[in-house]
Amino acid sequence: MDPATLETRFLQGRVALVTGASRGIGAAIAIQLARRGAKVACVATTAETARGTAEKCAALAEGARSYGCDVASTAAVAELVAEVQKEMGGLDVLVNNAGITRDQLLLRMSEEDFDRVLAVNLKGTWNFLKAAARPLMKSGGRIVNIASVVGITGNAGQANYAASKAGILGLTRSLAKELAGRSVTVNAIAPGFIATDMTAGLDEKAATELKSNIPLGRIGAPEEIAAAVDFLVGPGGAYVTGQTLVVDGGLSL
Ligand code: NDP
Repeated sequence: MDPATLETRFLQGRVALVTGASRGIGAAIAIQLARRGAKVACVATTAETARGTAEKCAALAEGARSYGCDVASTAAVAELVAEVQKEMGGLDVLVNNAGITRDQLLLRMSEEDFDRVLAVNLKGTWNFLKAAARPLMKSGGRIVNIASVVGITGNAGQANYAASKAGILGLTRSLAKELAGRSVTVNAIAPGFIATDMTAGLDEKAATELKSNIPLGRIGAPEEIAAAVDFLVGPGGAYVTGQTLVVDGGLSL
């Protein structure tokens, strides 16, 4: 490989685990990390849903695999992280991206919808941090947690989601302090409105209104979040920890 290629494949041979990798933002992140040479463990609710992304990753860098588990289950996540290390030979990068919404105004929001969003988004992130901290401390790895701009600004109808994402920002800053001594960086990305299945339900009128509130005048692409992850796990991100990188076209300004 010529030196220029080596430089761009800065994750060559490293193992990266991405949750929510079957589609949307997680798929774009997994593919970008594979472009950098990483062996990517693509995690979704089932190994079957993550398989398509794992195949795309394997075409870019050898060794990609697909895994399935409910990120809200502490025991299942611990088992999965142990399996990934055994099958893929370690763990160097963790991207906590899996997430759900169950939007409703507070007076109509059920306890179940509050609990489930917190369990998947916040506890799911904690489950992976807890299970992966030791191997990442060994490798001096990188952690990126996908939050949301809504975790900073709040949003009517998304109290559960906003609370889960604000929680991720607190987790990120605390663990950045805990793990810095082992050369592990922990950062969050707060995307704005990104075109994925999660946001596909918006009708045209609502989408036009939303776009008019985005200073850059358009909805973001999953690849634009993957580019931010690429920076944080790459050589340029080595001295960045505990930060929230907002990627929202100016929506939160
Ligand atoms: P999608 O709805 O397109 O994809 C969600 C992903 O999460 C899928 O891979 C899904 O797997 C996985 N997933 C959901 N629940 C679980 C679970 N319990 N266990 C394991 N995996 C699960 O989401 P996006 O790509 O839009 O969002 C990705 C992240 O970015 C989320 O955390 C979201 O909150 C955040 N975000 C998104 C924004 C947007 O505008 N799209 C804005 C701000 C933040 P499967 O396919 O198997 O169901």
